[in-house]
Amino acid sequence: MKKIAFLLAALMLLTAGLAGCGGKDNTAPDNSQAGTQEPAADAGSSAADDADNTASDGGTLVMGTNAAFPPYEFMDENNEVAGIDAEIAAALAEKLGMELEIKDMAFESLIPAVQGGAVDVVLAGMTVNEERLESVDFTESYATGIQVVIVPEGSEIVDIDGLDGKTIGVQSGTTGDTYCTGDYGQENVKQFDNGALAIAALANGQVDCVVIDNEPAKNYVAANAGLQILDTEYAVEDYAIAVAKGNTELLEKLNTAMAELKEDGTIGGIIEKYIPAE
Ligand code: GLN
Repeated sequence: MKKIAFLLAALMLLTAGLAGCGGKDNTAPDNSQAGTQEPAADAGSSAADDADNTASDGGTLVMGTNAAFPPYEFMDENNEVAGIDAEIAAALAEKLGMELEIKDMAFESLIPAVQGGAVDVVLAGMTVNEERLESVDFTESYATGIQVVIVPEGSEIVDIDGLDGKTIGVQSGTTGDTYCTGDYGQENVKQFDNGALAIAALANGQVDCVVIDNEPAKNYVAANAGLQILDTEYAVEDYAIAVAKGNTELLEKLNTAMAELKEDGTIGGIIEKYIPAE
């Protein structure tokens, strides 16, 4: 039922967008490879074109993400980016009277993309941290993430200390990557472009464990027999939306819209749809 409501809302948004702005879709490029660029159909609608007016003229809000991070973002059966972040971005865009366009790329490419103006915002289950705050600005947080460890069932790794000397799979450029590289040494960390590839390497025995955020971890473990999440919290983090440093106009509009969407239950409803309370 909620899904239908969302589809209707998305359709209305798209229709409004078509009427107002001349026909762009909110479909992600048809792949999930590193550094993917926008499809040809979207030529001329890049965030850079809208850089001066995205937040003020009801133009296009271009979102960057890495769509291998369920339930925050993943490719649905129509090969479109779906999930919590896509729905929150759609709700924000609607509030701002903007059309939403989503670009899928490697997680590592997201901060450079927002810095360079290829995207206006990053919603990617992205954790706020000091290092990133030097490169981008973040909105208020909209969700919490916990770094956890996935191991094969029966693994000898039973807690965080057990990671010592093991080969750890991570998503390149994530906080999990940073923690593991710092705590266990670069030589023990294998970086993958996305969570799905890290999990595939774990299933193949190429790595001994994967450090990743808890909700994607639950999704991956549910979808891959023989894996389990250790009962340990490596780090607790806040997710927020990144914008280019100094883009205070957009930042303030997003924070205002987000406060309203929290207040009226929209954001809570979106999160609950994908992460039902246990
Ligand atoms: N929360 C983690 C980070 O920000 C991972 C995000 C992701 O892989 N999409 O680094």
